[in-house]
Formats: sequence, structure tokens, C-alpha cells
Amino acid sequence: MMIIMRTNATPQEIAAVVERIEGNGLRAHLSKGEERTVIGAVGDGRPVLKDQFLHLPGVDRVIPITRPYKLASREFIAENSLFPLNGVQVGDQGVVLIAGPCSVESRTQLLETAHAVREAGAHALRGGAFKPRTSPYSFQGLGEAGLEMLAEAREQTGMPIVTEIMAPEHIPLLTRYADVLQIGARNMQNYALLHAAGESQHPVLLKRGMMATIDELLMAAEYILSHGNRRVMLCERGIRTFESVTRNTTDINAIPALKSLTHLPVILDPSHGTGHWEYVTAIARAGIAAGADGLIVEVHINPSEALSDGGQSLKPERFAELVRQVRAVSEAVGRSLAPIRHPVSAPLSEP
Ligand code: PEP
Ligand code: MN
Repeated sequence: MMIIMRTNATPQEIAAVVERIEGNGLRAHLSKGEERTVIGAVGDGRPVLKDQFLHLPGVDRVIPITRPYKLASREFIAENSLFPLNGVQVGDQGVVLIAGPCSVESRTQLLETAHAVREAGAHALRGGAFKPRTSPYSFQGLGEAGLEMLAEAREQTGMPIVTEIMAPEHIPLLTRYADVLQIGARNMQNYALLHAAGESQHPVLLKRGMMATIDELLMAAEYILSHGNRRVMLCERGIRTFESVTRNTTDINAIPALKSLTHLPVILDPSHGTGHWEYVTAIARAGIAAGADGLIVEVHINPSEALSDGGQSLKPERFAELVRQVRAVSEAVGRSLAPIRHPVSAPLSEP
């Protein structure tokens, strides 16, 4: 349930409500709005008498949260929650672009791609160092060496890094390098990983599982939020359907549905959503028109030689064209591209 405090509630009154919540074996989650504090009381589903809160000093109203995902739901937080990323706020009016290769393959490949996407207008750099591959014989990523390259790319371009985490025991390593931990589609219901990412308090990009419903995605986000980690953005990346012309089917419906059900930012991945570079820009435009807060796009300097996902990767000049088109669509729907806040970048240096 949600306990809405009066606008003039004192810190002591708020503390007394929290104490009562905890005394009932529930967890209290404070959300301090501009006008008033809302306290979420989340338990294990056992009934708790709402009347005992109604009469505490400073309490205005007590409202049940009907959704199974309490902290992720718009019932708990009505306003969009903002996810700070290197001086921009994902979830605000400005559309945010994350771009880079599927995998970090070499220093030159990463640095050249990083400079190119930055030049084209990206706000953040993506690139996997630990790769979840369907085949054990496929390229598995460079591991820590790849993370070192990402750190150098951040150093040179000023762009924050989004990179995938596959195992809870990698938290100490990944949090040293990543600005945002990506939890991939295959791990959306890896509860040990969700738990560890929640405990880490590190920002998370949570991708929808290819066979997960929207409610299951929100329940996965709830795992992270329930550890007090509020910096979570969700990513629609296509679901598996009977269609075989495209790799996945981008669920455009999920964008307005998520925007209505949750306050968390929603990002679209048109690269995995389609699996073909020719369709990526069209679906990127559709995603922004449908209300996505940003895009994560695979870009490679030489897609035909990519070690993973080359067929869906854009060349840098095609990404630059995507940015132009997405800017136009953003403006058509009353938004804009978020301002670029990177510090001045160092030139591409030789090894
Ligand atoms: C990726 O972003 O390269 C990736 C593996 O994505 P997903 O988890 O959505 O398949
Ligand atoms: Mn990929």
C-alpha cells in the first residue's frame, strides 16, 4: 500500500510511519516528491490493516497498490523517474541515444566506433565485453581486456559506458568499469543477477527477455528496485514470434504500455528487434514516435567483419542518418534529442 503524507508532514511523523511499517514486517520505500512524501509499504502479500496508518499524525491517505510490481508501478510514483546519465536525464523530455558495437573486438574497432558515434550525436557508448552467445563456439567477448578498452574509449570521448553483466560474481569487476550495467534478454529472469545488481546500487539497463511478457519484465525490474536501487531503465528489444524474416519482432505496443504502467524510462533496441540493418532506422523512428525515451543501437566500423551481430549493425554514416531522422521524429512528437554534455573529446590516439 501507499501512504501519502500531508504536505506539511514533519520528518518525525514520516519516521513514525516508517517505524510502524517495519514493525509490521513490511519494507518502507520513501519517495520524496516536490510537494509531499509518499511511503510505499511493501510486504509479502499478507494482509495488513490499513486503518492503523490512517490515524497516524501527518498521514493524508492510504491507497492500495493493485499491481504486483509495486515500486515499478505508476501507482507508486506518478511522475516519470529520471535516470541521470552523464549530465542528461533519461526519461525526461530529451531523447537519449546509446550506440556502439555489439561486442568489443579490438582497441581500434572500439575507439574508431566510439569517436564516430560521438560525432554523430550519441550520448553514451555501448559494447559488450562479456557476451551471452547462443553457441559456445562463437566469440565470447574479450572479458576484462574489453573493459579496459571501454575505459579508454570513455577517457577519449567523455561518453559513459553501457556494458553487459552476465554473472553476479562479476559485480565488483563490472561496477569498476561500467556506468550502466546491461542485463541482457537471456538473463532477465536470472534472479541471482537481478538481486546482485539491485544490491550494487549501480545503474541498470534491463532488457526484456525474448519470451517475457511485459508484466514479467516489470517484475524483474521490481527485483532490482526492491533492493533500493532506483536507477533502472527498461529496454524493449523484440520478442520471439512465428515470424522468421526478422530476427525478433519489435513489440512497439510495449512502449506505450510500459510508459503507462511504470515510471521507469523505456529504451528501444531496434537492432536486436529486427536483426537486419536495413530495418533498424525505420523501427528506431517508430519507437520514438511511440514514446520511447531513447534508443540503443549497434554500430560497427566494418559490419561485414564483425565478430557478433554484423548483419544488424549500422555503419557510422548510416547511424548519423538515423540520428537525423530520429531528431525529426522527436520534434514531430513534441520532444527533442537530449543535449550533448560530454566534455571536449581527445582526438583518436594511436596505440
Ligand atoms: C546485446 O545487446 O548485444 C545483446 C546480447 O542483447 P540481448 O540481450 O537483447 O539479446
Ligand atoms: Mn548484439
